[in-house]
Amino acid sequence: MLCIPLFYCVESVKSVAKKGFVYLVGAGPGRADLITVRGADLLETADCIICDKLANPALLKSARQDAEIIHVPKRIGVGSFTQRQINELLVEKASSGKIVVRLKGGDPCIFGRCAEEAAACAEAGIDFEIVPGVTAAIAGAGYAGIMLTDRYYSSQVVFVTGKEAEGKQKSNIDWQWLAKFGGTIVFYMGVANLDFIAQQLIENGMAKATPAVVISDATLPSQRVAKAALARLSEKCKEQHIEPPAIVIVGAAVDSDPRLNWFMKKPLFGKNIVVTRDACGNAEFAARIVARGGNPIEFTVIKIKPLTHTTRSLRALTKPSEYDWIVFTSSNGVEIAFDFLRSLGKDARVFGSAKIAAIGSETAATLAQFGIKADFVPSIYTSKELGKQLAAFWNLHGKKVLLLRSQLASDELVECLEHAGAEIENVPVYRIAGAKSKCDWLIKKITDGTIDWVTFASPSSVRAFFEQIQPDLVNSSSAKVASIGPTTSAELRRFGVKVDVTATEHTIDRLLAAIEEACR
Ligand code: SAH
Repeated sequence: MLCIPLFYCVESVKSVAKKGFVYLVGAGPGRADLITVRGADLLETADCIICDKLANPALLKSARQDAEIIHVPKRIGVGSFTQRQINELLVEKASSGKIVVRLKGGDPCIFGRCAEEAAACAEAGIDFEIVPGVTAAIAGAGYAGIMLTDRYYSSQVVFVTGKEAEGKQKSNIDWQWLAKFGGTIVFYMGVANLDFIAQQLIENGMAKATPAVVISDATLPSQRVAKAALARLSEKCKEQHIEPPAIVIVGAAVDSDPRLNWFMKKPLFGKNIVVTRDACGNAEFAARIVARGGNPIEFTVIKIKPLTHTTRSLRALTKPSEYDWIVFTSSNGVEIAFDFLRSLGKDARVFGSAKIAAIGSETAATLAQFGIKADFVPSIYTSKELGKQLAAFWNLHGKKVLLLRSQLASDELVECLEHAGAEIENVPVYRIAGAKSKCDWLIKKITDGTIDWVTFASPSSVRAFFEQIQPDLVNSSSAKVASIGPTTSAELRRFGVKVDVTATEHTIDRLLAAIEEACR
């Protein structure tokens, strides 16, 4: 019998066991896309994400579907965690071989107790990496147009905690030194202690009139700014009901040029805008709202279901080069057709010399992502205009035209093209199904008056939305209704809904431009 010494066995088991790793990642200050590229990449691959309350929940959308997500709020109450429990959790998950992302608000090492978490890893022999993030002081100042340093009036900046560790015998904050600092002072966690902070600074010699500001929810559409002389700051915050999370900035830097307050001047700043497409369309729409300073509220009412498995779809999509023209009337149609081609191991070359038409600029842009430049886009983005203008642009007599559209698409386009003598193959490549989601929270927001706009980008969204929400609720609220085009507006009116704005062109950008115009 062959005898293997025990230590060999132990060694070999050790060498095959997958080793875990902990990434201590800064999530950035609030707005989701202010995370670093490194942080975002790691979120996509992590086995386990242990998430702080201050990290934007939208960041978790990029997590793997099977990733374990654990929220570890540290506030008092049910479901809250102590720092020790968090440290233990990190070690436990990484010890079982998982790649763990510990997602922390702002920068993990600025008032983030990163030292304790890193030390717990080191103690347990677990490798870790620190991924820096944009800290609240820097982001808040930037998003309020306040320069923390300036070559003329602030050559130094200091970050101070407004709340020291409980039970600490002696304060580490040297108020005398701070009062004479002369640069910019940023307090974290200071809102609840504003009276104390101001009193300490003033008692130690800082002028009562020193400019000061509190910035709450920095970088988010709910960002608020309260500016006052140091002696009056606490009162001002109470008047304006400013709540944490907020940073407090004290010093000459606060008196910046008001024209530099770029973020709060964005056209849709602070507007709560409901988007009602499918999940994917909503995400794209939401990103454009965020770019304009607004707060997108995603309410998914429809699902796009491919119909590429039908015999008609299969026949058409396997030999598209046999047609003279192929017409796409939505980005969904383009994406579904190309997904299907990809599943067959094919690409844009299957279209051969067939000409391609797109209903509008967004559909053309989606085609371009797959390497196709549309040969024809009408000047007005409707099915009827597409049919009319394509027939005027090209002699369609006897030509074979393939329409790759939604099952619900109207007959207008077919009629127009047939009238021009074309031979039409109309192939539904997807259908739109209603997606019921919980709506109590939205009903409450509409009733409370916290929704500024409800947007509709298709008649199907209108139908699916008002299957769940009473038209009268919207009509009698302060929420306004925005529609992407005349067909969608007509559907809204059919439900008795008052339409406040209709986009001048059938695109999301124009829809947002119409809302901006109405907000002016
Ligand atoms: N590690 C974090 C700070 C954690 S301490 C960072 O680097 O930003 C928590 C404090 O950060 C809050 O009390 C508040 O002072 C500040 N803070 C975090 N997010 C903020 C935000 N969006 N707006 C204003 N202050 C914020």
